[in-house]
Amino acid sequence: MTIQSRILVTGASGYIAMHVVQHLLQQGYAVRGTLRSTKHEARLRSIFAKDIKDDRQLDFVTADLMQDAGWDEAMQGLEYVMHVASPVPSGKLNSEDDLIQPALQGTRRVMQAAHKAGIKRVVMTSSVAAMHDPRMTDNQRIWTESDWADPTQDIGAYPKSKALAERAAWDFVADHPDMELATINPVYVIGPVFDERFSTSIEIIRKLLRRDMPGLPRLSWSIVDTRDVAAAHLLAMTTPEAAGKRFCVDNGLLTTKEIAIILDNHFAEKGYRIPTMQLPDFAVRLFALFDQQARLVVDQLGHETHFSNEQAKRVLGWQPRPLETTLIDAGQSLIDLGLVKR
Ligand code: NAP
Repeated sequence: MTIQSRILVTGASGYIAMHVVQHLLQQGYAVRGTLRSTKHEARLRSIFAKDIKDDRQLDFVTADLMQDAGWDEAMQGLEYVMHVASPVPSGKLNSEDDLIQPALQGTRRVMQAAHKAGIKRVVMTSSVAAMHDPRMTDNQRIWTESDWADPTQDIGAYPKSKALAERAAWDFVADHPDMELATINPVYVIGPVFDERFSTSIEIIRKLLRRDMPGLPRLSWSIVDTRDVAAAHLLAMTTPEAAGKRFCVDNGLLTTKEIAIILDNHFAEKGYRIPTMQLPDFAVRLFALFDQQARLVVDQLGHETHFSNEQAKRVLGWQPRPLETTLIDAGQSLIDLGLVKR
């Protein structure tokens, strides 16, 4: 296999970015990953050793979303950038700016450096958080790429960070029409993990396998497989008609109970006891008085948020794998890595 062009992936140490890197390497591309700390380099080299034909296929540069250093050097001589890096909430925030500033300033830095380097197309990882309004509770509505979250409203720090960053990217290409942009807007991303550093979106699987939840709140999750998100990034890079478009990547909605039943059907015989009892809403509300994580979800009890993946399927020819495969592969990877015990 000949090594095709080199693609820049920002935040290569992140969960989704690692899947993007692996997918690109497996498709024969060379990858340059940006890292904010070189401490991840050896770990990544070891994880991707089986995916590369030769050491030159993968290199790394240091660049922080909050600093100018490194971005010009990172883009030199390249044609395509996958801008994946952005902070994802994992605990209590000191201020909304903890998420908003790296997302927004980082996107501006990446777009500016990309333009300066003559990059042809940027594919940016946005989110459905930049599309829908979490305060709207119409279970029938289907959200599409023409919807935008309003960051001036009280929608939460993370949706604000994603909406502001994605807007900034679109504003940049409106002012610089010689550079192309496509965005991938995933729903909740689940799939196999590479090691103990994985995104907070995998917690639901880990909590169920570890029986960390006493029962199941009446919540619904729009889910997409990390590997299918990675594939969508490459399709958005190679499909000429993808330029100028947002792509919602969603593979459908499951309730917490449906997720638990799929995991139980597969892992119970291996000795994992998955909770499958539905909790009444009043119990979750009571629990939320004492528990911060439960507090985050009480407003969502019984709500369903539906997204359309029609544009990704039609324009990109994107085809997600069955959700059952996603959940089982995620669970199996946590077990294989010893991150959950029976
Ligand atoms: P993740 O594993 O936490 O990855 C976040 C990445 O952003 C990491 O590489 C992190 O670097 C990097 N980052 C954060 N602050 C940075 C800074 N100041 N400078 C440089 N890099 C910085 O989360 P993920 O789930 O893979 O998220 C990746 C992208 O997907 C994000 O844009 C996120 O909004 C989007 N997304 C995620 C989901 C989901 O369900 N997981 C859904 C929709 C969209 P370190 O490794 O050094 O911390």
